Amino acid sequence: MPTLEDLITSEIIANGPMRLDTYMERALLHPEFGYYQKQIPFGSKGDFVTSPEISQMFGELIGLWCVDTWAKLGAPSKFAFVEMGPGRGILMQDALRSAKLVPEFLEAAEIHLVEASDQLIKVQQERLKDHPIQWHSAFPDIPDGMPVICIGNEFLDALPIRQFQLVDGGWQEKKVTVTDDGLTFVTPPSDEADLADQLPSISECSDGDIAEISTPAREFISFLAKKIKSNRGAALFIDYGPAENALGDSFQAVQRHEYSNPLENPGGKDLTAHVHFSPLREVALSAGCAAPAIEGQGRFLERLGIEARVMQLSKNATEKQHKDIVAAHKRLVSEQEMGTLFKAFSFSSGLAAPAAGFGDAE
Ligand code: SAH
Repeated sequence: MPTLEDLITSEIIANGPMRLDTYMERALLHPEFGYYQKQIPFGSKGDFVTSPEISQMFGELIGLWCVDTWAKLGAPSKFAFVEMGPGRGILMQDALRSAKLVPEFLEAAEIHLVEASDQLIKVQQERLKDHPIQWHSAFPDIPDGMPVICIGNEFLDALPIRQFQLVDGGWQEKKVTVTDDGLTFVTPPSDEADLADQLPSISECSDGDIAEISTPAREFISFLAKKIKSNRGAALFIDYGPAENALGDSFQAVQRHEYSNPLENPGGKDLTAHVHFSPLREVALSAGCAAPAIEGQGRFLERLGIEARVMQLSKNATEKQHKDIVAAHKRLVSEQEMGTLFKAFSFSSGLAAPAAGFGDAE
């Protein structure tokens, strides 16, 4: 039985060094051996824990953000409510529960979930079985003619990246090759002409610097921003990465809550890269959408009222539950934990007032 490493090795022997985006795609989404196809990676027993898994408060507040955004769109009687990469479906479950406060929102929502993993679709179907939902394996085929509200947590960081390193004053693409020691990186001279406008200006960089580009992330944001511009609506993505353009290698593997070698045991561990928000925001702006400054997750959740929710939940809680709520609150908002590394990124068109949670909405 060949492993995914064997398959990648044969591909490299046949075709030469493999681009990092191809490697990431194979490792995460290969139909048989891909990481997201094989296992349920989340939760304390899995490889990593995401915000909706930490506390119900996260999804509930995002649900209220969606209701508020829908009201700012003029409470349309039908709209596409889309989530990208819903994992175990907890964010959507919590969001739909808090949105019950406004039944007209739920009646108007046509729910679309976009999920590449068949395994996770099954988990989502089970958890969300009380709601009518359409699933898609790639960009949603949302009918035109209705507004769109699209959310995603830790979705953009799973989209494949390419890396370029400045060597002797020119960009060279970092690729994966095979040696006697297994899979390793190489940086052969590359033809990056197609990406020249996306790479930082060489005069502002030094030899050895690494620049990262995610073409699928740009294409997805461009597709969605155009959809939102022509149909009205808003998008909200929460993920981790720098607000401003940054150089450096952020390609990483996490297994059982520990960092490990991303080229070892492909398919056996989660691979991600930091999301570079400012180029994505530029893509949304150039499609004609409004986009507030990128905000830290902590301040975003505070503006949405996480403290009031902590107090409300604590009222009927046992001592142990109260401790857990306080710990989850701290984990989501504190600067030392997820409060500033994680960011909220939003763009919209046709809102009567700025989206909640961002600086210029105050
Ligand atoms: N939003 C969830 C899960 C985050 S993990 C949470 O916060 O817990 C990333 C999710 O995106 C997984 O559900 C994964 O299967 C999905 N995914 C990764 N690449 C994808 C792609 N190209 N298209 C659709 N879904 C994808």
